[in-house]
Amino acid sequence: MPDKPGLTSHLNLNVRGLPISATLGINERSHQLIKEGRRIYKLGLGQSPFPVPEVVVNELKVNAFQKNYLPVLGLPELRSAVAEYYRRTQGLNFAGEDVMIGPGSKELMFILQLVYYGELVIPTPSWVSYAPQAHIIGRQIKWLETDAKNNWKVTPENLEKLCSADPDRPRLIILNYPSNPHGYTYCDTELEAIAAVARKYSILVLADEIYGEVHFLGEQTSIAQFYPEGTIVSSGLSKWCGAGGWRLGTFTFPPQLQWLKNAMATAASETYTSTSAPIQYAAIKAFQGGPEIDEYLFQSRRILAHLAHTLVARLQQAGFDIAPTQGGFYLFLDFEMFRPGLAEKAIGDSVELCELLLNDTGVALLPGVAFGRPPTELTVRIAFVDFDGALALEAAGGIAHNTPLPDNFSETQCADCVAAIDAICHWVGHLPQPTTR
Ligand code: GLU
Repeated sequence: MPDKPGLTSHLNLNVRGLPISATLGINERSHQLIKEGRRIYKLGLGQSPFPVPEVVVNELKVNAFQKNYLPVLGLPELRSAVAEYYRRTQGLNFAGEDVMIGPGSKELMFILQLVYYGELVIPTPSWVSYAPQAHIIGRQIKWLETDAKNNWKVTPENLEKLCSADPDRPRLIILNYPSNPHGYTYCDTELEAIAAVARKYSILVLADEIYGEVHFLGEQTSIAQFYPEGTIVSSGLSKWCGAGGWRLGTFTFPPQLQWLKNAMATAASETYTSTSAPIQYAAIKAFQGGPEIDEYLFQSRRILAHLAHTLVARLQQAGFDIAPTQGGFYLFLDFEMFRPGLAEKAIGDSVELCELLLNDTGVALLPGVAFGRPPTELTVRIAFVDFDGALALEAAGGIAHNTPLPDNFSETQCADCVAAIDAICHWVGHLPQPTTR
């Protein structure tokens, strides 16, 4: 009898050979190394360092008994609270029925790509999961070239160039700002110009604004202001409410895209059914806001801005070419100027670079290739989240709002992050001198 084919040979081709997501992979690897006794700086996974605000945790406690399945689109009171949140914070005119709640915006993005038949357009670099989701579903991916000198941002010109080559193709563009992996964002003029191209070619825009509340100046503007009819705004609790593990995401649709929301509801109802009930009840409090949440956000932004500033200054001092960032908790760093010294250590790509850095310094990072950069480019993403956010909030809370945090705030409150960056700077400073051949 011929051998039966192994079960693995029946894997769908679209997932065959794919590893687990880079963000989760580095997190699990970091924990494993720590368990083995290594000193690891966890700058790999982008998890908020801050605790969930107490008022929101309390709501979860009192709602632990909620046991029923909820409507597939979400708890009506939560959907209304999300719509009201957008009216209050950005002047966007949404109603409760425009909102869809899901178990994390990542899942909603997957379902969107599943139900919308269009090619995915994303800038390089982009967050690690957009492209694999498209790949799993079988969608085409078009990477938009960007320029480090323009802080890796999409320009109306490069979008126009891509679309004009094939103007009638249905497309979904994902714009994430402030951005994971680089921490830069768009000004109103830039958003308006991109919106004009999106409108011209009827591109569906997914505005991934999961870091909107951690814009350092608290000045998030959505591209939905300029292209309301074609934009879905995406957010959730993970990044501004410290609740990544709670898994709650939101999509908000304009009336013109209700057909997409309905199709997503069908896919959701046949897969995850509905989002965890206690979490949805607790999330109402988060989106309703109030003085505690305002204070929490003020301090979160203040701490992240100080830390970003401190780290960028140290990196610049060590010779890196990196501009100050504008939000979130990432830096995207290019080691190109150290290429000759790195070549002496047989490093020629971003994966090798991260491996050696982890080995030599204990700093866990993600390679630029995971974000769609060319493999031989020496870029990495730093998630500066390895500090105790509760202690940092407490310390910042004791300093008057109108007084800047002291210069040494990050060194004392976010010591491991600063030490990790110093270790990188020290490491590049001691690379072997290139030999002349
Ligand atoms: N968004 C986070 C990151 O880029 C982690 C969450 C995830 O990838 O699912 O590190």
